[in-house]
Amino acid sequence: MYKKKLLLPSLMLSLSVFVHAVGNAATAGEVVPGGIPSSADTIEGCPSPVILQNFGEFAKTGKMPPAFGKWLNSVEAQRIEPFKVFDNVYNVGIYWVNTWIIKTSDGPVLIDTTYGPFFDLLISNMKKVGVEPADLKLVLMTHGHFDHVGRADRLKALTNAPFVMTQAGWDEALENSKKSPFMEEIKAVLDEHDLVAKDGDIFTVGDTEFRVYETPGHTWGTASYVYNVKDGDREVRAITIGGLGLNGVNDTKQLESYIASGNRIDAMVESTDNPVRVHIPTHSFASGLTEQVESIQNRKPGEPHPLLKEGSLVGQLEGLRRRAEQRLPTLKQ
Ligand SMILES: [Zn+2]
Repeated sequence: MYKKKLLLPSLMLSLSVFVHAVGNAATAGEVVPGGIPSSADTIEGCPSPVILQNFGEFAKTGKMPPAFGKWLNSVEAQRIEPFKVFDNVYNVGIYWVNTWIIKTSDGPVLIDTTYGPFFDLLISNMKKVGVEPADLKLVLMTHGHFDHVGRADRLKALTNAPFVMTQAGWDEALENSKKSPFMEEIKAVLDEHDLVAKDGDIFTVGDTEFRVYETPGHTWGTASYVYNVKDGDREVRAITIGGLGLNGVNDTKQLESYIASGNRIDAMVESTDNPVRVHIPTHSFASGLTEQVESIQNRKPGEPHPLLKEGSLVGQLEGLRRRAEQRLPTLKQ
C-alpha cells in the first residue's frame, strides 16, 4: 500500500526532465509482448514488462500512469534487499535504478549513486553487504542523468574515494543540475569534480581492472565499464553499459552514435579474444534481470550461471539495434 506521506511532489513536477533522464527504459510506444495492462492500481515489486510498458506509455503520452507514478515516488515501493549476482558483485540500489558494488582485493568500487530520497536505501544496502561508504575506493558514474548521479553530493561527504565520469558526463550533469530538483545540491561536487574518464583508461583497484569505454548515444557523456566478475574459481568479463534508453536521443547524429556504440559493444561480445560475456545493467528491468535474481540465488552447485546463458547478451544488443532503427525515421536530421 502507498502512503501519501511517502509521495514526493517534487518528483511529479519534474516529469519533463524525467523523460530525458531515465536510463535503459523502453522506447516510447513500445509494445510489450503479452500485453500486460498498465492500468493496475499498484505495482508490486519490479515486474520488467509492466515497468517497460508503463514507462513507454508515459514517454509516448506525457501522462504518468498513476500506479507507475506511485511506484516511482515511493521509498517503500522502491525498497529492495541487496542481492549478489556474482561472487564479487552486489546490487545495492533500488528497483528503478541499480547501483553496483564490485568487491576487489583492495576494497569496494561503486557504480552510480542513486538520487533523491533513495540515498538512505543505498547506504543501508551497502552496509548489508559489508561496505561502509568510507571503505569505497572508487565511484564510477555512467552518465549525467539524475537517477545515476543525483546523490553524488551526499556520498562525497562520506568517502574519500575519487568520483569518475567522462568530461561530457560531467558537463551534462552540470547542465541537468540547473533543471532537475534531484540535482540542485550536486553543483559543488560538479565544480570540483575528481577524475575525467577517457576512452581506454584503466582504473585498477586491487586485483580488478575497470576499463572505460566511451559509448555515446543514450547521452553524449555515457560511459560503459568493463571488468571481471568472479564465479567460483573462474573469472568472466562483464560490462556495465552506461545507458540504453532512446528517450534522450534527439536527432539522427545522436542515434548514429548510439548505434555505433552498440556495434562496438557487440564486437567485444562476439570477439574470440577474452569476450565480454555478461551485462551488469544499470536498470534491472531493461534486461529482465529482476526476473532472474531468484534463479541466481537458488542456483545449485555445478549448475550454469543464469546470466551466462549463451547468446543472451547478443540478443539484448540485437533488440537495442532494432529499436534504434525503428526510431530513425522519427528523428530530425
Ligand atoms: Zn539516463
